[in-house]
Amino acid sequence: MEKRVSKSKKQLNHKTINFFNSSHSFYYLLFFMILFIGISILLYFHASSLKKQYSTREMEISELKKQLKKEKKEYQVLVDDYHKYQNLDSSIEDIKKDYFKKIKEMEDAIIRGESDKKIAYLTFDDGPYYNTYRIFDILDQYDVKATFFTTNINGEYCYDNKSENCWIRYPEYLKKGHTIANHTYTHAIFRGLYNSTDSFMDAVMKQEDLVKELTGGYVTNILRFPGGSPTAKNLKDPIIERLRERGYGWVDWNAKDGDGGRLDSREQAWDIFTSSIDENIEVILFHDYNGITTEILPDAIDYLKNNGYQMFPLFYESNMIHK
Ligand SMILES: [Zn+2]
Repeated sequence: MEKRVSKSKKQLNHKTINFFNSSHSFYYLLFFMILFIGISILLYFHASSLKKQYSTREMEISELKKQLKKEKKEYQVLVDDYHKYQNLDSSIEDIKKDYFKKIKEMEDAIIRGESDKKIAYLTFDDGPYYNTYRIFDILDQYDVKATFFTTNINGEYCYDNKSENCWIRYPEYLKKGHTIANHTYTHAIFRGLYNSTDSFMDAVMKQEDLVKELTGGYVTNILRFPGGSPTAKNLKDPIIERLRERGYGWVDWNAKDGDGGRLDSREQAWDIFTSSIDENIEVILFHDYNGITTEILPDAIDYLKNNGYQMFPLFYESNMIHK
């Protein structure tokens, strides 16, 4: 009985194998082939869509690269500009140094008698005043640069126009190419300035600090004694010694229109002025508060030009500056 059962099992297995191997195997093969082809087609479409996406991304990347390159270029221009602006102050300093060097060479040649050129340094004492504007306008009109010996005797508001702030003039001196020089903070000739070298130097340093503060760092290194150097009497030499220690040179004048004293008329100023012009290098004393000086200034500049003078702002290295 057991033997029969196992025989029929064997027969069944044999039948199953036959079933797979024979009639249905074709359909299985077909099924797998269709499945394979289907998957292949799906894969193909998927791959081509990926390829499309990839090439789109590639185009985007190259576009971004182009953009980046352009922006990098623009950035580089900005960086270059920034460096240029950063060096602007030193470039201006270099140009100024070169300019003063050429004037010094011109002076040297005149002093040696090798040149028939003439130089006039226009200087204006005791400002800034409201009237300094009018002086600026005339100098601009003639394209002449000058030197302003500044003091704070008049305070922050213009002595001749209290509604105007005169301190704003300080950066303007430089912007217009003029030289700012030191005429002491107090100008107190009869009120203690010349009491001692210390009192004098205190007024010098205070004015230096004021100029520095109002111009954003400009350091004065040329001084004119209030009243002129003889006013210092026996303190003159010790003061000069102290000035030298602080890096200052000083200058008086060899020409003027008399506007520091009492002037009765324009004609009087003109006579004093024209008769004082007699050297090849002139340092001319004016005051920017004086209306008569403002009146004769255009004619004075013409007079100097017609007599062969070139006008420059003063500078420390000039032969006219005592050290
Ligand atoms: Zn003065």
